Amino acid sequence: MINERMLGLGKQPNPIRVQFAYGLQRKAEIGEENVYDLSIGNPSIPAPPEVRARIEELLQEPPQQLHAYSMAAGLMNARQAIADNLRERFGIPATAANVYFTAGATAALYITTAAITHPGDEVIVNAPYFTEYKVMIETAQCTCVEVPMRQTDFQLDIDALREAINEKTAAVVINSPNNPVGCIYTQQNIEELAAMLSAKEEELGHPIYLISDEPYREITYGKEVPFTANFYRDTIVCYSWAKSLSLPGERIGYIYVSDNMPDAADVSAAVGGAGRALGFICAPVLFQRVVETCVGLSTDVEAYARNRELLCGILDDLGYDYIEPDGAFYLWVKALEDDSQSFVDKARSHDLLLVQSDCFGVPGWARAGYCVSADTIANSRKAWAALKADYE
Ligand code: PLP
Repeated sequence: MINERMLGLGKQPNPIRVQFAYGLQRKAEIGEENVYDLSIGNPSIPAPPEVRARIEELLQEPPQQLHAYSMAAGLMNARQAIADNLRERFGIPATAANVYFTAGATAALYITTAAITHPGDEVIVNAPYFTEYKVMIETAQCTCVEVPMRQTDFQLDIDALREAINEKTAAVVINSPNNPVGCIYTQQNIEELAAMLSAKEEELGHPIYLISDEPYREITYGKEVPFTANFYRDTIVCYSWAKSLSLPGERIGYIYVSDNMPDAADVSAAVGGAGRALGFICAPVLFQRVVETCVGLSTDVEAYARNRELLCGILDDLGYDYIEPDGAFYLWVKALEDDSQSFVDKARSHDLLLVQSDCFGVPGWARAGYCVSADTIANSRKAWAALKADYE
């Protein structure tokens, strides 16, 4: 018999992907330039040229060597390159043994959750949060506990998190720079989180892991992103090159179990076990080899910065309320009515494709992704204006 939960997930896909699919169809009908598709986080900036050069270089190798399986956790040289990069950039004593290559951040998150939870545990997320966290937590047969971020400054609400933690709490998931809000948690905020979690670990007598989901680590507009593992011992980093090297379709990322963790070897072994149990072994090998040499590169953040200015300017002119993003490439706009879905549907009638906020765990907002061409943003002005006019 078909699994009812899986049937439900399949029949009710992620609203981001629903809008994205509609956008493709609509572009075919009325022309690409007439649809302002701000729905999905597909980077508009091409991967740095070194990525293509490296692929071309690798393609000269004998295919049976190039396309062979790697070890389940990845190629040792590539894992070493990631560990070296983490050590050089953040001063953490990273070792290759605690790096596990994955098919993007999604696989990293699923593996990590499976590795450190038991059915019936609770995993805390900070709302608004990336839509798929809930699916991932429930797939591990755990309860997804939503704690709202502080509404004043979109920082972690340490008091509310403390309140939410109990003997069933296995982990807290954070994501900074954040999808969908674009906020970055300050060092002070992370330090307060770390102090609170350490005290709770002590009180409860078991680890509370911090899952730090960092696919937007390099996409920032001037603010520092504290490296979480330097502040909290029991941190597991989930990373992806989907955004930082514009390689979303290549499915390449990693898990890094902090070397500061006293039981890092066992946690890494459990990560390996969860990878095996879930079938997430031997991440795409060609791209392990690419990131081995390209790990120090980044995308052209300036282009996103210009898009951000452009979109904020349009929304300012038209009188929309929004949160000015410090990182990632999403803008969190206040919907002009309580019902976010209805707001997004009205936007769609003007061929402006946004994502409703309920799927991020919060009512009354919408997400606009500005990882599109500057022309798309400039041309979307009339759609934003028409949407505003619908409410006047
Ligand atoms: N986490 C966050 C916050 C994201 O925004 C995304 C993708 O947009 C992911 C995880 C998934 O990343 P990947 O495509 O590498 O699986």
